[in-house]
Amino acid sequence: MEVIGVDGETEMLKAIFLPFLSHSRLISAVDMARIFAMQGVDVTIITTPANVAVFQSSIDRDSSRGYSIRTHVVKFPEVAGLPEGMESINAATPKDIVSKIFEGVALFKGQFHQILRDMQPDFIVTDMFYPWSVDTAAELGIPRVVYAGGTYMAFCATDSLEQFAPHTKVDSDSQSFFLPGLPHKLEMTRSQILNRGKESENEFSYTLKAVKESEKRSYGSVFKSFYEFDGAYQEHYKTVRGTKTWSVGPVSAWMNQYASNKDERGYAKEEQGWVTWLDSKKEDSVVYVCFGSMTKLPAAQLVEIAHGLEVCGHDFIWVVKKIEESQDDGVRVFLEEFEKRVQGSNRGYVIWGWAPQRAILEHPAIGGVVTHCGMNTVFECVDAALPMVTWPLFAEQFFNEKLLVDVLGIGVPVGSKKWSNWNEFGDEIVKREDIAKAIGLLMGDGQENLERRRKVKALSDAAKKAIQPGGSSYNSLKGLIQELKSFKLQKLNGKLEAVA
Ligand code: UDP
Repeated sequence: MEVIGVDGETEMLKAIFLPFLSHSRLISAVDMARIFAMQGVDVTIITTPANVAVFQSSIDRDSSRGYSIRTHVVKFPEVAGLPEGMESINAATPKDIVSKIFEGVALFKGQFHQILRDMQPDFIVTDMFYPWSVDTAAELGIPRVVYAGGTYMAFCATDSLEQFAPHTKVDSDSQSFFLPGLPHKLEMTRSQILNRGKESENEFSYTLKAVKESEKRSYGSVFKSFYEFDGAYQEHYKTVRGTKTWSVGPVSAWMNQYASNKDERGYAKEEQGWVTWLDSKKEDSVVYVCFGSMTKLPAAQLVEIAHGLEVCGHDFIWVVKKIEESQDDGVRVFLEEFEKRVQGSNRGYVIWGWAPQRAILEHPAIGGVVTHCGMNTVFECVDAALPMVTWPLFAEQFFNEKLLVDVLGIGVPVGSKKWSNWNEFGDEIVKREDIAKAIGLLMGDGQENLERRRKVKALSDAAKKAIQPGGSSYNSLKGLIQELKSFKLQKLNGKLEAVA
């Protein structure tokens, strides 16, 4: 994107992206930065040594394709008691370390300010969890765009709870209530929401308040969604919050335009046994089971999942994280035996640790997904036209489930009812019969299942159109870049007038 200065000089619109340090927010914000670069913006991504390892190769690839994009690596601030290199938040990060990482993030403010002074970007895109960056941008007179990460639906539902407090008017955690004021009539229980009606302030609620307040003072927010997916909630959000937003996703649809992007994100090429295994399976016959990068499942739940998969009658790929296998020796032995058994019967394939999810979902043999309703996964499923068994656990996932099941009709709920903290092993155990039943409904050929497939296919087609010239996300991104370009021009003109 070239900006013609008043003196006739041309230069690119320069952006700095500051992604958050949790794995999934990091990779989705990096993908967002790459989309801006694909549209001709000069992009620098600020990150730390441990985090850059996750995505440097994809930036190198984009750079070799001719896009103006690079990383700028800075040392993570020193915090007493924080071991060197511990600068990423995921399921394996101990609780006391998480708070120390947050301390480091707060200390980073000064360093970030200096970087902006040195690099003189035209605008910044920073994760919503850096509310202070709105002040840094204001001091330099440049726009701050918020990288929202979540869904409009979840923000709208949270606003509804704050404004109408329906959860305080029921007698128990299991009694249902409606979320007032939303475009659809959506029913929830108190056990599915954060704080469960105990309105005491805590560190996280203070952070969320600061996030909301800083959004009001920002230029606007970018979402990884697309209008055809949740346009009603985008409109509602704009009305209720009175802020500007742009839906520019799904990011996976942009990235999947290059076949070579699908195998990125740190999965060793030689470990691709799953390809051969999936190649031997019929189209749409395999269910993929994965709970994202942050989930901790208790041993008893892993056992139920294993049994549920064995009795569901469908072939499967199950991604088991290190944190889960390490929690007790008994479950590790159980899972190893399970793996041998299902390999022997050719019914299942277990991936330990990190799976190349995007590539797996694109394989024709995959016919459905069991997900915790993390929105990166949801958009990847929608892009790949895969219906989902919804198994929300923490964060805004119970709201996302409402969107998938009740609004869009592309999900089958497994029946989880209890919200838990992302960094705790929840105590709700979903039973094997319920898991097998939900997978049966998802993968079967009943009328409802066909209808779900039809709906998700229509959304998938819409997603692919959205990112093409003239599509909703394409236009939205172009419109935002055009606005930022005008902002820069006005600033340049203003400076010249001041000098004259
Ligand atoms: N992911 C992956 N391999 C894994 C687990 C997750 O590639 O083994 C990717 C997945 O494709 C998605 C992201 O990590 O892009 C997870 O994000 P999501 O929002 O679904 O869940 P979160 O990790 O935030 O709970």
